[in-house]
Formats: sequence, C-alpha cells, structure tokens
Amino acid sequence: MAWDFETDSEYQVLLDWAADFVTKKVMPLDMVLGSAMEYQDPDFIALVRPLQQEVKDMGLWACHLGPELGGLGFGQLKLGLLNEILGQSRFASVVFGCQAPDTGNAEILAHYGSDEIKAKYLQPLLNGELASSYSMSEPQGGADPTQFRCMAVEDGDDFVINGEKWFSSNARFASFLIVMAVTDPEASAHGRASMLVVPTDTPGVDIIRNVGVGDEPPGHGTHAYVRYTDVRVPKQNLLGPRGQGFAVAQTRLGGGRVHHAMRTVGQIKRAFDMMCERAISRTTQGELLSKKQMVQEMIADSWLEMEMFRL
Ligand SMILES: Cc1cc2nc3c(=O)[nH]c(=O)nc-3n(C[C@H](O)[C@H](O)[C@H](O)COP(=O)(O)OP(=O)(O)OC[C@H]3O[C@@H](n4cnc5c(N)ncnc54)[C@H](O)[C@@H]3O)c2cc1C
Repeated sequence: MAWDFETDSEYQVLLDWAADFVTKKVMPLDMVLGSAMEYQDPDFIALVRPLQQEVKDMGLWACHLGPELGGLGFGQLKLGLLNEILGQSRFASVVFGCQAPDTGNAEILAHYGSDEIKAKYLQPLLNGELASSYSMSEPQGGADPTQFRCMAVEDGDDFVINGEKWFSSNARFASFLIVMAVTDPEASAHGRASMLVVPTDTPGVDIIRNVGVGDEPPGHGTHAYVRYTDVRVPKQNLLGPRGQGFAVAQTRLGGGRVHHAMRTVGQIKRAFDMMCERAISRTTQGELLSKKQMVQEMIADSWLEMEMFRL
C-alpha cells in the first residue's frame, strides 16, 4: 500500500461528497443522539436511516468488502482516506455501514461462513439491521493471544465454550459474537484456537460488566467483560478450519488496524480544527489568541505531530 500524495480525481469527488455530507448532516447527530449502536431506537430510525439511504444511493455503503465478497474493492488506501473523514463523527461509520467491529466480523463471515451462516448473520449485518461483537481478548492476555484460556470442547455435534473474554466491544448491542476459543490445547501455540459464531442470547453468555473508555459516561460503557459458562453452539458455527483461529483473526485485524488509525487521525483533525477556530475567534488581553506567538507555536507543533502520525 502506498500513497503518492495524489488521490485519483474520480475518487476525490466521492471523498469531497463524503466530507461535506459528514460535516453538514452527520456531525449534528453527535449532539442529539446517544449511542450510535441503538439500531432499534425510534430516534435512530428517524434520523440515521435516511442518511444511510443517502450513502447507499451514492454507492458508498459498506465499502470495506472486496469485490469477490460483494463490496466495492476500494482497497486499504482508499478506505483509509474515507475513514479519515468518518473519524470526525461518532455516527459517521454507522451511517456509512462500516463501523467496527462489524466491518471485521463481516470480513470473517464473508471469507469463512457457510451459506447458512452468511444468510443468518452476514446479510443482516451488511444491511445494518443488527450489530455484532468480536470476543477475543481475555483478562490475562491481549497482545499475547497464546495466553488465551477460554476453551471450546467438542461434545457430540456441538462445541461447549467455557471461559472469560475482556473488551468485547458492543457486546451489549450485539445479536452475535465471534469468539476465539482454544479447541486444541495440545497443538502448537498458534494452532490451538478456533473461531466460532455464538448468538448472544445463547444460555450461558453473561455480560459481567460494560467497561467505559474515553468519553463514555458511567453506565454507558460499550466494552464488555463476558463470561461463557457451558455455552453450547453447533459445530456448523465454526468459522474456518479448526485450529486456524489465528489465521482467521488476521482476516479482520489487518484492515482494521488501518481503518482504526485513520479514524483516529480524523478525530484528531476535528479537534485541531476546533482549536484553530477558537484561536481566531477568541479575544483575550487586547488581541486574538491567534496573535500570540506561543499559541501559534503550539498550533504548528500540533499540526506537525498530526501529519507525522497520518503518514
Ligand atoms: C477501546 C478498546 C476496544 C477493544 N475492543 C476489543 C474487541 O472488540 N474485541 C477484543 O477481543 N479485544 C478488544 N480490545 C482489546 C485489545 O485487543 C487489547 O487491549 C490489546 O490486544 C492489548 O492487550 P492488553 O490490553 O491485554 O495489553 P497487554 O497485552 O497486557 O500489553 C500491555 C502493554 O505491553 C505492551 N506490549 C505488548 N506486547 C509488546 C511487545 N512485544 N513489545 C513491547 N511492548 C509490548 C503493549 O503495548 C501494552 O502497552 C479493545 C481494547 C480497547 C482499548
């Protein structure tokens, strides 16, 4: 992936449309609506659904999937530039049908799901009708997934899952979770785990608490600590070959790294723009903030840091 600092003109037209649309129509939602994941909330239906339709009409809906999977095949570079715009609003990803963790989960389902699994979970996910969660990290192991202990034991036609997961984002809104569990404890470190679809209402799936990060207010955290106790799912819910959970995980984590980072760049840019607006509109001690040398220096430093992070 490389960027020669010039975006092709046809795609730039779409980016310009997206930037204008997000600024004028999507950002205001940040001020009036609560969570961006309350798909059945009447206000969400009234305010967000029409905007989603506008995105569909522009052909930009759920554009993270490759053409072989029914998407537009933009590739990571174009998606990165689009996500930079979407990062400026809490609602933009949902309005464009490419919100985490649903994007990565859709990629896994598209690559590894059976026709039945795709019809049941992937299609409604792409339609924005339901939400999903990715349940991989555990309290004792995040960056080192070889420490995962959550087990899925074969029992007849089922797998039975026992263990705990940590930071399962959006589990509280999700209809299903994609769970990475150890199925083959005797195998090599990277051949032990498998990936399974688990409907959230399966007996034994318990959210212990929803952890809030950043600006999430108390009681509205979206990152779940989940306990799985004798959770039984059919073997057909296996995604990809047994023992290949690490490889399957890369299907989602690769692109996600770029999208997440570019949305963060978008968030930072918005904060930067707000800072600049303040500097040229606020007068203190006889002059605009922007006239003060140290303020100019701080803004210049922020811009440099932002550009370095972006590249
Ligand atoms: C907002 C948020 C949302 C998340 N959503 C999800 C989700 O939906 N599903 C999910 O499964 N997980 C999710 N996670 C969990 C995330 O994947 C883990 O936080 C991540 O893998 C790191 O694991 P850890 O927090 O346990 O840190 P640890 O693994 O304990 O790492 C601790 C520190 O060590 C550093 N470190 C680790 N390895 C190295 C190394 N080799 N060299 C040098 N330093 C190192 C890390 O940078 C970190 O600072 C989310 C996390 C956050 C913060």
